Amino acid sequence: MKNINEIRADFPILQREVYNKKLVYFDNGATTQKPQCVIDALTSVYTTYNANIHRGVHLLSDLSSEAYENSREKVRYFINAEKKEEIIFTSGTTGSINGLAFSFGERYIKPGDEILISHLEHHANIVPWQLMCQRKGAVLKVIPINDKGEIIFEEFTKLLSSRTKLVSVAQASNALGTILPVEEIIKTAHSRSIPVMIDGAQGIQHGIVDVQKMDCDFYVFSGHKIYGPTGIGVLYGKEKWLTELPPFQGGGDMVDKVTFEKTTFNQLPFKFEAGTMNFTGAIGLAAAIDYVLETGREDIALREKELLDYATQRLSEIEGLRIYGTSEKKISTVSFLLKDIHQYDTGMILDKMGIAVRTGTHCAQPVMDRFGIDGTVRASLCFYNTIEEIDALITGIEKVKTMFS
Ligand code: PMP
Repeated sequence: MKNINEIRADFPILQREVYNKKLVYFDNGATTQKPQCVIDALTSVYTTYNANIHRGVHLLSDLSSEAYENSREKVRYFINAEKKEEIIFTSGTTGSINGLAFSFGERYIKPGDEILISHLEHHANIVPWQLMCQRKGAVLKVIPINDKGEIIFEEFTKLLSSRTKLVSVAQASNALGTILPVEEIIKTAHSRSIPVMIDGAQGIQHGIVDVQKMDCDFYVFSGHKIYGPTGIGVLYGKEKWLTELPPFQGGGDMVDKVTFEKTTFNQLPFKFEAGTMNFTGAIGLAAAIDYVLETGREDIALREKELLDYATQRLSEIEGLRIYGTSEKKISTVSFLLKDIHQYDTGMILDKMGIAVRTGTHCAQPVMDRFGIDGTVRASLCFYNTIEEIDALITGIEKVKTMFS
């Protein structure tokens, strides 16, 4: 693996200062920074071969179509999907889940059917299912969590019923960092022939994802959380499901034959890709994937584990600081509160020291309700962060405490 200085040099934004201080970027759970190769890939499209995909006979259109389809193959390889047709490009995790919830609802859901999610979910894996349940007269059920912020597995098995039509859970919680036992969840659901969707928004960037090994039926993620551009995401689905599901958007490219009386649809994956797709985003995502592969997914995971352990240790030593999310199995995200000090105050003061953390509910209000709080301070670390930056965070928190004492 490259050394940390080489890695940091790959990300131009990490060299900038804020308020005349070195930027310490600990908001990677919300979005990650981009390496120069991703920025270069986008510049290259716009300066040398930008043209709309699939519909042209001219050279530039051929080049952009080829680059777009190569990006699909890159994503297939990266998550080890069996077929490239199983990779649908979307606008992001939210776009993927909304699309899936609509199609799945139209095809399979009847009044009284149940969708099972967990108490740890991001709003993006709650609200689309709620909307679908309202439309179809179905019921949303929720797997409870314990005080460590882990799902209670026995409750999960009890909640599975003959009415359960889909289980949809996160690979890891963005609010607490908990890694969910997705393989066991999938095995248990499958033993009752129930399909499972995994929200990989906080999983894809922290290790190796193998959708065939995991055996999930659907897997979704966002490009911007794995060093790629914003506005691009992925909906992976096993071919048998994608073949049965109806499209969730209509428009150009997703059709075979259109008459006013009847429209037939294009093959997979195009059936789900209506209109001009974010082909530049897909090309940027492929560059990000190349970067991650070149850096090494195991090495990234190991480095992030070191950072998580160090941050957890140092934060635990601060008197009056409580960490929310204390599972043994976590991604490199630490959520915490300093006794009596509002999260916004902590976040704003840290910001003035050049330290970017996120405050609030992290789009996971039910998690906050479960712990009886209205938000946390969240430091989400990634492999380009350093031990020195964690030390700066600790010093910053001590200063916040002094200011409020
Ligand atoms: N699910 C989880 C677990 C997330 O962390 C996020 C982003 N915070 C989302 C879904 C939504 O992702 P996006 O905003 O990129 O669509």
